[in-house]
Amino acid sequence: MNKTTATFNLSKFVSLFKSSQDYSIANADPPPSTAVEYGWLWILENYGEFGLFLIFYGLMAVLYAVGGYVFYLFDKYKLFRSRKIQVKKYPSESDIKRCLNNLITNYILVILPIGIVSFPFSKVLGMSHSIPTVWRFLFDILLCLIGEDFFHYWMHRFFHTPWFYKNIHKEHHYYSAPFGFTASYAHPIEVIFLGIATFAPAMILRPNYITFYSWFIIRQLDAVLTHSGYDIELFPFNLLPYYGGVSFHDYHHKEFTCNYGSRFTWLDKLLGTYKEPVIKPENPKKSE
Ligand SMILES: [Zn+2]
Ligand SMILES: [Zn+2]
Repeated sequence: MNKTTATFNLSKFVSLFKSSQDYSIANADPPPSTAVEYGWLWILENYGEFGLFLIFYGLMAVLYAVGGYVFYLFDKYKLFRSRKIQVKKYPSESDIKRCLNNLITNYILVILPIGIVSFPFSKVLGMSHSIPTVWRFLFDILLCLIGEDFFHYWMHRFFHTPWFYKNIHKEHHYYSAPFGFTASYAHPIEVIFLGIATFAPAMILRPNYITFYSWFIIRQLDAVLTHSGYDIELFPFNLLPYYGGVSFHDYHHKEFTCNYGSRFTWLDKLLGTYKEPVIKPENPKKSE
């Protein structure tokens, strides 16, 4: 009896990772009419919904590495020095090594298992596989940016209470002058909690798979940018009102008790925790 129940439960568990519908192109009704629709359905047909999750997860990790590496090159070859926020602080090789060790651990032992455990919820919530319009995609991403910022603000303030700071959040503050790779450099407990802040708005919105997974990649790249140490204004986020930019979060790493939002300044301004980043531009020639 127990064995039957155990077998049943196992098959039920495995079924959680199977696709919720048939994605074969031959049976599609209506059939795909554009190359994008065809390509999207081809991925779903061949890899299924769980395979799609793994593809996006791999893509997120690769893009994080590429983004971090680009800023690593900025530091290594002293490029764009006029845009460097903390002009005299460049990471050492041991700084980078320590950071990468933490990242590899977090990405394999924390973020990936959480993603796998969370995967069945995307089906429970009725995630759609349809391709959104560009405007719908941008609108949903904007809502996710605003929602994540809200949840992040409160969790971040919570992590700055004495016990949580000393035992958990202090790790993320190991680098007072962050660099791209430090975006997810944190204690595993913090990674879990801030992951909830990232999940929450997407779970509330319940968009389609494309927006849902793209959001995690955008969130991750936004974190690489805000930790880059370079005040670069070429990115579209800078067009958003109350967007704090890189200097906003960089200043949090420098001063600790201000600027708790992920990227927007409105909550900090409303609740009195905002401090205008003080950037003292230095002549690159003099900063040697
Ligand atoms: Zn940070
Ligand atoms: Zn902090």
